Amino acid sequence: MPRQHRRRSEEPLPPASGLGWTRHEQGPDGEWVVRSVPGDRSGKTYRCPGCDHEIRPGIGHVVAWPADAYGGLEDRRHWHTTCWAERGRRRPSGRG
Ligand SMILES: [Zn+2]
Repeated sequence: MPRQHRRRSEEPLPPASGLGWTRHEQGPDGEWVVRSVPGDRSGKTYRCPGCDHEIRPGIGHVVAWPADAYGGLEDRRHWHTTCWAERGRRRPSGRG
């Protein structure tokens, strides 16, 4: 009988196009794939979901998308590098 040993292989990362490196990060809302975008590779203006401000062309930033949304690159979000970092550092509200 046919046996399917389909082990989840290593991440089938989307084709890299020379845009910096890619890494995985564990966030409060799951695992994310994060890729850095050097400023000189950025030619468009994006809206950062962290601060709701624009990321202007020429500004180095990061692109993040859910790790289990392979192929769904439309889900990518462009973040300021600092906004992304602060997102992971965000603490639940409360006194402290
Ligand atoms: Zn931002």
